[in-house]
Parts: sequence; C-alpha cells; structure tokens
Amino acid sequence: MTDRIIPLTDARSASIRLPSAGGIEVPSGRVLDRLSRPLRDLRISVTDRCNFRCTYCMPKEVFDKDYTFLPHADLLTFEEIARLVRVFIEHGVEKIRLTGGEPLLRKNIERLVGMLAVLRTRDGQPIDLTLTTNGSILARKARSLADAGLKRVTVSLDGLDDAVFRRMNDVDFPVADVLSGIDAAIAAGLTPIKVNMVVQRGVNDDQLLPMARHFKGSGAILRFIEYMDVGSSNGWRLDDVVPAAEVVRRIDAEFPLHPLDANYEGEVAERWAYRDGSGEIGVIASVTQAFCRDCTRARLSTDGKLYLCLFAQQGYDLRGLIRAEADDGQVSTAIANIWRARGDRYSELRGQATAGLAKIEMSYIGG
Ligand code: SAM
Repeated sequence: MTDRIIPLTDARSASIRLPSAGGIEVPSGRVLDRLSRPLRDLRISVTDRCNFRCTYCMPKEVFDKDYTFLPHADLLTFEEIARLVRVFIEHGVEKIRLTGGEPLLRKNIERLVGMLAVLRTRDGQPIDLTLTTNGSILARKARSLADAGLKRVTVSLDGLDDAVFRRMNDVDFPVADVLSGIDAAIAAGLTPIKVNMVVQRGVNDDQLLPMARHFKGSGAILRFIEYMDVGSSNGWRLDDVVPAAEVVRRIDAEFPLHPLDANYEGEVAERWAYRDGSGEIGVIASVTQAFCRDCTRARLSTDGKLYLCLFAQQGYDLRGLIRAEADDGQVSTAIANIWRARGDRYSELRGQATAGLAKIEMSYIGG
C-alpha cells in the first residue's frame, strides 16, 4: 500500500502523510523535536464555547451571536480523545490538561475525566490529570469531577474587586461565585488549587495586592500571567503587559518574597515563597522571559488538530486521520513525525517578524 495524504480540511490545517498500514516500523517511545525538546504535556480543548466573554480572550465584538462555533459533529468524541491520548502517552506524555473554551460546559465531561484517569504513563504512574476552568460552575461540579478521578484544578480569576472582574469577564459574573467554586474544589480535594490571574496594565493591575492578600495562607497558589498576544481578536499591545519582574517587585514590597527552585525541568511558572512561610506565588513571564527552549507542550484543538505552539498558525488534522480509519500504528507514526519536525519558538522570536501573523484563538486551541 502506498502512502496516502489526508487532504486539507480548511486553511488552518496542514496535511498529514498517512503512513502505510502494516510492515512499517512504528516509532514508539519518547520523541524529541528539532530543538531536543521531549513531548511531555498535552492540553486538550474540549469545547470552543465559553460562558464568559473576557475582553482579552473572547471579546464580545468578535464572539457575538453571529459567531460560528464548531458544530457538534466536528468535536472529537470522548472515545477519540482517549484513543489519541493513549498514543501520546506512548510518546512520553505524562500530563494532560483539559481546557477550552470552558471545559465544564462540555456535556458529561466527568465521563471523559473517568476515561483518562485510569491511563498510566510509560513508567506505570498515574497520569497527571488536571483542568483549567473559569470556576463559574465549579461549585456544582467539583465533587463529581473528583469522584471521576480528576486530581486538581486551575481556576482563572482576574481580580477580587467585583466591578473589575465583572467588567473583564464582560458577562457580569460575580467574584463571589468563583470563590465558592474554589472552596468547593478544596473541599473535594482537587488540590493544590492554582489560581491564574492575567494581568493587564490599567485594567486589573490594582488587583495584584488584594489577590495576594486574599490567597496568602489559603493553600491556593496564585499565579500571575503576563498578558499575551494570542489569537488575533484582542488588540494586544506590549504596553498593556505588566512584566512578571514588576509583579514580583510590587508584591515583595508588601509581602516579602524569596525565590524557590522549579518543581521540575520545564515548569512554566517561576516560583516565589512568602518569607513568613504562608505559601507561594508563581509568575508566568511568557512575554518578557520566553521559555520556548523548555517547552514540552502540544495542544489538541476541539476538532482534533494538533498544534505545536500556542502561537501556531496551522495544526495537523489528527481527527481526519482517525476518521479515515488509520490504525494506532499509523497515528503513532504521524504524531512522532510531526513532533520530530517541530522547531516552534514563537515567544523567543516575538517582534517585527511575528507582528502580522494570523494566529489561532486561544478558546479553540486551548489555553
Ligand atoms: N475557560 C477556562 C478558563 O477560564 O480558565 C479555560 C480556557 S482559558 C482560554 C485558559 C487561560 O488562558 C485562562 O487562565 C485565561 O485567563 C488565559 N488567557 C486567555 N487569553 C489570554 C491572554 N491573551 N494572555 C494570557 N492569558 C490568557
């Protein structure tokens, strides 16, 4: 049988050469990309829909009532996701993050959690299975997610001041309900909880200290994320970014900090501990201190395209491959070949060369 090419399904996807079935050597085991980076983490967007319209992520002017979200038939089914994850694990993936869009909006998400929670890494360890959520329905879902096998959650919360937060989520959602979701997650044992705050100058940087004060001593790890130029709809400007170094300086002035070592190689957050022993914070400096050289992350979009970088312009159509009845060996070969050819390092190159590029929206590719 000769190689077949899975055709382009739309402008955003690259064709994948479908390896012949049978008689080929299927690469199994860990794969390295062109910059010697292993494949360790997989982020899976389980829906491109969200009930928030955060001004920096899914602004109302773009994601309005006329916006076309993916039809249900285009979404990877849970069985398709679990099958792909098993192949990714063969290539070294140890950590899975469910995201979106808002992952808790995907119907019966607990069933997918249950299917993934039983998988084991190549070394026989449980998969590090986690989920990023806006927390809006976490109070209702935390217990069933934990029962299904979810280990922990990351909750996004951009401020403690209700007016600031309502303005940023742009659907008038109150802070109190997200805080209830965080409490429910702690009660369900989805710990340690991480709380992600995207910091925008002049929008919510006055929330740095109130957020630090609130979560200090709570066991939750607050992480400040530099506002990034993902997608093409948020009108990003470098002036809007509050550099992580400034965040650390401002918090340290009020609550003295000292640096901590990374938990593991390639950890994206730089860790800082409160000197009084009341916990730690993290800063994610994806704009001012790019960490591409340690990036071990791949992303699977809602409709099953494999993206090798958050800022990628094109994905590889794995859904097309599995719906064209490729066997696991063929899927495995395709994934290994795609990863081996990876040379992406957008954040290190950010600037003139990247300014005009049309990028994929975060809600689709998975945050
Ligand atoms: N709906 C879930 C949530 O709110 O956490 C998951 C998806 S959301 C796209 C994942 C994370 O990406 C959130 O913490 C969000 O704040 C962050 N995010 C979205 N756009 C961003 C941007 N332009 N820069 C930095 N972080 C961003």
